[in-house]
Amino acid sequence: MSDVVVIGGGMAGLVCAHDLQQAGLEVTLLEASDGLGGRVRSDRVDGFVLDRGFQILLTAYPQVRARLDLEALGLAKFTPGAIVRTASGSHRLSDPLRRPADALRTLLAPVGSPADKLRLASLVLDVSVPSAGAVLRRPDRSTAERLRAAGFSEEFVRLFWRPLFAGIQLDPELEVSARRFEIVLRMLAMGATGLPRDGIGAVAEQLAARLIHTDVRLNAPVRTVEPGAVVLAGGERLAARAVVVATEGPAAHRLLGDSVPDPGSRPVAACWFSLARAPLEAPMLLLDGHSGGPALNAVVISQVQPAYAPVGRSLLVAAVPGPRALDGGLAEQVREQLSRWMGVPTDELTPLRTDVIAHGQPLQTPPLSVRRRVDLGQGMFVCGDHRDTASLQGAMFSGERTARAVIQSLRGGS
Ligand SMILES: Cc1cc2nc3c(=O)[nH]c(=O)nc-3n(C[C@H](O)[C@H](O)[C@H](O)COP(=O)(O)OP(=O)(O)OC[C@H]3O[C@@H](n4cnc5c(N)ncnc54)[C@H](O)[C@@H]3O)c2cc1C
Repeated sequence: MSDVVVIGGGMAGLVCAHDLQQAGLEVTLLEASDGLGGRVRSDRVDGFVLDRGFQILLTAYPQVRARLDLEALGLAKFTPGAIVRTASGSHRLSDPLRRPADALRTLLAPVGSPADKLRLASLVLDVSVPSAGAVLRRPDRSTAERLRAAGFSEEFVRLFWRPLFAGIQLDPELEVSARRFEIVLRMLAMGATGLPRDGIGAVAEQLAARLIHTDVRLNAPVRTVEPGAVVLAGGERLAARAVVVATEGPAAHRLLGDSVPDPGSRPVAACWFSLARAPLEAPMLLLDGHSGGPALNAVVISQVQPAYAPVGRSLLVAAVPGPRALDGGLAEQVREQLSRWMGVPTDELTPLRTDVIAHGQPLQTPPLSVRRRVDLGQGMFVCGDHRDTASLQGAMFSGERTARAVIQSLRGGS
């Protein structure tokens, strides 16, 4: 019998299992799929590194700083800012606080008005100066309402905010909690964004490599849980003093019932293409709020992290957040959009793969309560991004919180 069975080997489950192991507990980690990482996995396809969905690592996340060895990950960084597609072409918006030399060009770029750029700088200061806790305690509303209250023009929201945060929050309608929006904006402003040499999945692999005293079982889907035991799909029953459900939110609801309501799902798709040459020079995020989609943002990912593509080829990924991710024929539509957007003939864009992820993130509409309950009583616990914020930070932090609660419960009870 283990002390603790952790169900789910995503970022939350990996952190939770690690902290329990470090506390000297006997831990079994059960993962339904054939590998660890959950939503944070990468594959090698024909010499390319393809992440399962387009993701980025924000170095300012406290959990990233505390737990990851970024040097070992070989992180390559994006140039801060974005290249925005408008009716008049593509225009570069730099972060004026980090690249003062570009401030004038950014101010005058025909993306919204100069007043929008000043509001942007003011909003960044507004979310960066107070503590993270203070930001999370502000009255909540939707991201769209927050941007309206800050005075941004509709054009700037359409061209800049929507494609940027649709990519990060998988939320083309900007309906996600403003608390979460503000925290992410704070993280973008305070740190770098980057990609590991071996793909985003290397982040999870680094955590997994530390589970040296944990019994990890892959292809082990759990069918039911109850206080003191879990039953695998094959019928095997495992007893444990504590059970942690570290699955994605909808699966946690199926296993735990009404004590963990289904948090809803934001879908997303990523279309990957290879091409012979890179159409743009700067390793920056590309935003398209102009064309009507279906992709809202894209990046020539091999310009950011050259290890993602074999020598002589470039790798381009475009993200389709929201319900359109579930449409059929997406790769062809996106290929045509990218061709017009980047001036590359469609036959030079070779489709590599389309990832459709039905549960990209939980809904997290306002009011968002972070630090949701993780101790359900009777030795049952829950963790995952649906308990905190839908991010690597939120998933890891919830894993840490849950491990702490389990340790307290088992020590108190023994
Ligand atoms: C395309 C995309 C882009 C994203 N972009 C970013 C980004 O740029 N930055 C950022 O910080 N965050 C981003 N996120 C969010 C981030 O990836 C997630 O919030 C985080 O990875 C969630 O981790 P988790 O451990 O809570 O859940 P998951 O990663 O979903 O892990 C749950 C695990 O439980 C397993 N499981 C489910 N049911 C069972 C069962 N019955 N038995 C056993 N195992 C089971 C699953 O197989 C899975 O491995 C993105 C997400 C997606 C999909």
